[in-house]
Amino acid sequence: MRLEALHHITMITGDARDNVRFYADVLGLRMVKKTVNFDDPLSYHLYYGDETGAPGSILTWFEAPGAPSGRAGAGMIHRIDLGVPSAAALDFWAERLATHGVAAERTGDALVFADPDGLALALVVAGPNPPLTARHPEVPAEHAITGLEAVRAYAPADPDAVDPVLTELLGFTYAGEGAYDATGEERTFRLAFDAAPPEPGRSGAGTVHHIAWASRDEDHLGWQDRMARAGARVSPVMDRDYFRSIYFRVPVGLLFEIATLSPGFAVDEDPERLGEELRLPAMHQHLREHLERTLTPLDNPRSALAG
Ligand code: ZN
Repeated sequence: MRLEALHHITMITGDARDNVRFYADVLGLRMVKKTVNFDDPLSYHLYYGDETGAPGSILTWFEAPGAPSGRAGAGMIHRIDLGVPSAAALDFWAERLATHGVAAERTGDALVFADPDGLALALVVAGPNPPLTARHPEVPAEHAITGLEAVRAYAPADPDAVDPVLTELLGFTYAGEGAYDATGEERTFRLAFDAAPPEPGRSGAGTVHHIAWASRDEDHLGWQDRMARAGARVSPVMDRDYFRSIYFRVPVGLLFEIATLSPGFAVDEDPERLGEELRLPAMHQHLREHLERTLTPLDNPRSALAG
């Protein structure tokens, strides 16, 4: 039983409109699903990724309109690294971000900047992962983002101490200097720890809520069983319509999810029209009229392109 590297990462945004503009337009990802937080259905859950929303390409946000900014501290992820194909792509993105008024800094092989909520992002030249790209009219295919490569988190304790939960239970490989690699058959994803700042973290806009690892469907209950036997407080299996999930917190403080690879985002929408209409799970369908009045009106930039 082996995890298939990353499934998705979920954050909090204070402004869904700015979020869509930034990720689906400036960064050229595809908004592949517009739904609500299944556990708090009065707020959005927005998903972005490659053309199909393949695991390994997915970033998602819960909207908490007007939420104050949070701050990453010990036990929280503080930066997300997105792959691009080449150093030339980094040059393209430096210019594109500048054109859109986004301050970015080139540090060695990374282009580091922040999203409108203040979440730190980096574009890095991707490793050998198969590219997971979306189409955008202003982003040449050879420069498009290729999927998620890594996150950096603040460790609460000695980052050189190898964490047996990560290595022995979850099967990550310790790569040295506080970094762990989750390697599946298709992809690798790195979870790296840095020394935590002295100020405590605070959840809020621009912070990471959880990180989800991918499981083959047939292994999913096996992961739940393994974590429960190891003493983790693991959730029941939750049906998220596009995948099934279990959740548990690991001792370093991060909230982990393990999500199945299927059924994926085309289960309730035409693959050509992903993310264009508000989709609701059966249990929240009765809220549709209310939600269509109260949620921030959002257009998927892809709808305009198709039209
Ligand atoms: Zn999730």
